[in-house]
Amino acid sequence: MAQSVIIVGAGMIGAATALQMAKAGWRVTVLAAGGADATSASFGWINASFYLSPDHHRLRAAGLAAWHRLQDVVATDVVWQGCLCWDMDAQGLAQTEAQLQALDYPVSRITSAELRQLEPHLLTTPDAALHFRSEGAAQSGHAAAALLRAAQRHGAQVIRNAVVSEVLLSPSPGVSTQWGKLMADQVILAAGTGTPVLARSIGVDIPLVHRPAYILRTAPVAPLLNHVLVTPVGEIRQEPDGSILMPVAPGHQADAAGELVETPDKAADAAMARLRGVLRLPDDLDWAEVTLAERPVPQDGLPVVGPVAEGVYVAVMHSGITLGPVMAELIAAELSQRRDNAAAATLAPYRPDRFA
Ligand SMILES: Cc1cc2nc3c(=O)[nH]c(=O)nc-3n(C[C@H](O)[C@H](O)[C@H](O)COP(=O)(O)OP(=O)(O)OC[C@H]3O[C@@H](n4cnc5c(N)ncnc54)[C@H](O)[C@@H]3O)c2cc1C
Repeated sequence: MAQSVIIVGAGMIGAATALQMAKAGWRVTVLAAGGADATSASFGWINASFYLSPDHHRLRAAGLAAWHRLQDVVATDVVWQGCLCWDMDAQGLAQTEAQLQALDYPVSRITSAELRQLEPHLLTTPDAALHFRSEGAAQSGHAAAALLRAAQRHGAQVIRNAVVSEVLLSPSPGVSTQWGKLMADQVILAAGTGTPVLARSIGVDIPLVHRPAYILRTAPVAPLLNHVLVTPVGEIRQEPDGSILMPVAPGHQADAAGELVETPDKAADAAMARLRGVLRLPDDLDWAEVTLAERPVPQDGLPVVGPVAEGVYVAVMHSGITLGPVMAELIAAELSQRRDNAAAATLAPYRPDRFA
């Protein structure tokens, strides 16, 4: 009989993992509390140009490749439009270009004129920018939903509005919910910022830092952006429906603010004013929606993926849109005992016991 797994969480990590576990032959039950999550508030940029170490870069580059393997599942939810980046000075651009070239990453430096040609609606352009041709973006909430539907086609079952209060270790791995206990051969905690409290219920410390973020969205407008833009005033992209998306904090991937000091409306007004400074927008366009999200950022910035007790496994990370699909493949391979030496080496820097 197939082995059973309970996956706590239906964000990008839970959804991608559910698909790979179901494909690997597990009987999958996904439990999701609902409410605010990081995935549906995400900027959705899929990239390996931001990274914390060469290993982390290689993992992120593998993340891009894993998304391509899912292309038939998320055909309309992921766009590979490339990224244009100039959120640093000339020396920073040269250094980033050299470092990424040394890692064999597709990057090229473009001139101001080339940038204007690629993005005709920019109001001002820097002397130079970097072009990351292989990068893309996901409509994260839609993509996670598509992955979950694909998991269901492979037999996964989803229980919504199920709040897990505790992880159980005996008589088998399991969880307590508001309706009672569910047991399985394996539990995977993919609960984003909800993970530490669940891990603590079995005495395991998964330290996350508090990283709240606002992200704004405009009403849909006619197409005016062709790439993900990483500018000194923030990261900007246009979704397929025409809305423009922008995390309110510039450089949000490395944003280290532990508190939000402005109210969401004031913060979005200020970000909108910055956006108007770089892009030619319709005069009457304003932000239409601002979302507050808690980002699941581990204490050292790196993913936390691996076993924490007999039958209990944790998967929590930032840049989970970039990394979700590749981590899901690695997790399913590891738990199905199909892990090879390369997969073991890939996961080695991210084990939860580094915090023990
Ligand atoms: C503003 C913003 C911008 C971002 N930009 C990017 C980006 O450009 N590129 C990128 O790669 N990443 C980005 N990220 C990070 C990325 O979105 C997250 O790493 C990713 O979405 C995390 O997915 P997750 O499934 O771990 O968590 P979540 O999406 O938060 O999902 C957690 C799930 O667990 C469930 N849950 C929690 N607690 C319980 C419980 N007790 N019982 C039952 N269910 C529970 C929730 O209901 C939910 O289903 C961004 C995040 C934010 C907020």
